[in-house]
Amino acid sequence: PYTGPPASEILKKRLRYLSPSFFHLYTHPLNLVDGKMQYLFDENGRRYLDAFGGIATVCCGHCHPDVVEAIVNQTNRLQHSTILYLNAAVAEFAEALASKMPGDLKVVFFTNSGTEANELALMMARLYSGSHDIVSIRNGYHGNAAATMGATAQCNYKFNVVQTGIHHALNPDQYRGVFGSDGSKYAKDVEDVIAYGTCGRVGGFIAEAIQGVGGILELAAGYLPSVYSSIRKAGGLCIADEVQSGFGRTGSHFWGFEAHGVVPDIVTMAKGIGNGLPLGAVVTTPEIAKVLTYRCYFNTFGGNPVSTAGGLAVLRVLEKEKLQENAFAVGSYLKERLTSLKEKHEIIGDVRGRGLMLGIELVTDRELKTPAKAETVHIMEQMKEMGVLIGKGGFHGNVFRITPPLCFTKEDAGMSPPPPPPPPPPPS
Ligand code: PMP
Repeated sequence: PYTGPPASEILKKRLRYLSPSFFHLYTHPLNLVDGKMQYLFDENGRRYLDAFGGIATVCCGHCHPDVVEAIVNQTNRLQHSTILYLNAAVAEFAEALASKMPGDLKVVFFTNSGTEANELALMMARLYSGSHDIVSIRNGYHGNAAATMGATAQCNYKFNVVQTGIHHALNPDQYRGVFGSDGSKYAKDVEDVIAYGTCGRVGGFIAEAIQGVGGILELAAGYLPSVYSSIRKAGGLCIADEVQSGFGRTGSHFWGFEAHGVVPDIVTMAKGIGNGLPLGAVVTTPEIAKVLTYRCYFNTFGGNPVSTAGGLAVLRVLEKEKLQENAFAVGSYLKERLTSLKEKHEIIGDVRGRGLMLGIELVTDRELKTPAKAETVHIMEQMKEMGVLIGKGGFHGNVFRITPPLCFTKEDAGMSPPPPPPPPPPPS
């Protein structure tokens, strides 16, 4: 049993000693003390079904024994070697990761987070192309350092910092976007951005295949192939941000971009790559990777033996347990069930996503698409009371995000609320 401080004490310390910009979910925030596969446990031992997975991060399951074993074994042997010596863990993981990539995407750079991965990718695109201008999509999220905060296109996550050389194109949002599901019309906007907002040459383009923070929005079909072609014509590189949509989460494919039939020049990843370890990566071609040979480029902790041993174990678990296939089967079933709920409940404006990356947008008026913000918070609280944790996102905070560990089962997906508590005993 848990013997640490209770939630109330932790909250006091958090308010006093941690960032004032932190926010927590729920009126009474949860003190989570244990995790086991798709379940989380609070200080009282109460079990919760985790349908958020640490924001699409836990892919194999919380504390998956194979991943824990790999981390512990490597920790006992050698935690840090610096990148200036040889170590098998980093080389083996790089090889395994490269084997999951299409085309000539074979060179891996390790980082500690998604922000770092995207910063590196944007810098490489700028160096390779010789152009500073980057196009990113409105409503996207790419990180919170200088270049990535620029590329992020939601005021909720931007501070008043200098944002240079970034152009935000129309979001090919099939629910609220001006052109509905017509990917080619949104793609034309990128051509216009290049023509009217730049010298005609660009450094690159960055996009998520399914916007995660933005509210599980899948880019309209036909958009990416057309945009990739325009960007390449203008001398730029195409970056796929797979921080949330990678590692089999979308079910139909291992990488989100694959559903759009494109091959990026640079792919970035984090979150699921380490099942919770601080780990990120950038994968690109040998030719593009060469841009980093003109100066010394290194990252002290990126590719450390412990994180990479854990990463390799994650890849092996994904394969051994067929978790991508599971994401497809369970995700399709859950989406079907959620879609049928939409027929019954006016408040559900949209059900979308793929595999175990699903979104439910709540609106108070289906025609006006008025965001049902308060209702979203209320339902989330109620689900917590029922023992289910889900996420929330979207620009207006009215989209449920369902991104559970990929070991989520059909039974979990179909979980019914517990029966009402028995009536109180009659007064004696
Ligand atoms: N890209 C995407 C698509 C993300 O969702 C996030 C994190 N929410 C990031 C990049 C940044 O990753 P990190 O928080 O690890 O820096």
